[in-house]
Amino acid sequence: MNSKLFALFGNPVSHSKSPLLHNSLYKKLGLNACYARYLLKSGGALREKFFELGLDGVNVTIPYKEDAFLACDRLDMFAKQIGAVNTIVLRDGMLHGYNTDAPGFIASLDGFIPKKALILGAGGTARALAVALREAGVSVVVANRSEGRLEFFRDMGFETALFCELKTPSFELVVNTTSAGLMDSELPLQKDKLLDILKDALLVYDCIYKHTPLLQLADRQKKKNKNGLDMLIWQAFFAFEILLDTKLDKKDVEVMREAVR
Ligand code: NDP
Repeated sequence: MNSKLFALFGNPVSHSKSPLLHNSLYKKLGLNACYARYLLKSGGALREKFFELGLDGVNVTIPYKEDAFLACDRLDMFAKQIGAVNTIVLRDGMLHGYNTDAPGFIASLDGFIPKKALILGAGGTARALAVALREAGVSVVVANRSEGRLEFFRDMGFETALFCELKTPSFELVVNTTSAGLMDSELPLQKDKLLDILKDALLVYDCIYKHTPLLQLADRQKKKNKNGLDMLIWQAFFAFEILLDTKLDKKDVEVMREAVR
């Protein structure tokens, strides 16, 4: 195999474990490949930077998944449907876009499929999760602090709400896809409202891969909770298969898990 160069594009990227996940598996499998991270200052520059850096593929994180969608020449069905791309691979001079957040998230649920789920946030990750959960038969409500990004979900037939108008019928799964708690110690929305929302939750899930203020609150309410580490590992596993055009053994995920441990 010719040497391959991959990277993570995002802002911020300094916290990211993606290089560790991918490089550990290159090493284990003896692949001539390297995965770096690149602080991209503007989403509009994504395509130009990709070629300028001579990359073979990228993963894309906040806040550029929608820019990544626009930068691609070809899109797989799921990425096209949700308008957000987190994995781009170069084939025959063209950028092919995919989204592995959705299968990564579903794999991380370990078979738990709730009846009703509330998604907090309405960005690229929320799009992937909302569609994936609906495809799994879950009734989904999407709530956000501001109006603009909710339109996409209404057009897709989802029930939506602003945080301030959110009614709180029983949600078995509450998922935070906002960036609140990523680089700060904020809750995604007002504490009183959150306590109300969490009352009937069987699982409180934060896509951020640390013990965020939301998960600390869930702990205090004695609610089962999970951070985004498993999702990160599984989305990296599926992205690896796309970037290297290969099929991994499911147990290879343990190499990635061990690397972040
Ligand atoms: P986007 O930038 O596309 O969307 C961010 C969302 O968060 C928007 O709905 C925005 O609301 C909301 N938001 C931002 N700051 C706050 C705040 N302080 N309070 C309340 N809402 C806020 O991001 P992504 O969807 O790409 O990513 C979202 C999060 O998910 C990130 O933290 C990311 O790290 C995590 N993630 C984890 C993955 C994993 O593998 N574990 C994979 C993908 C993402 P508004 O529309 O009003 O601006």
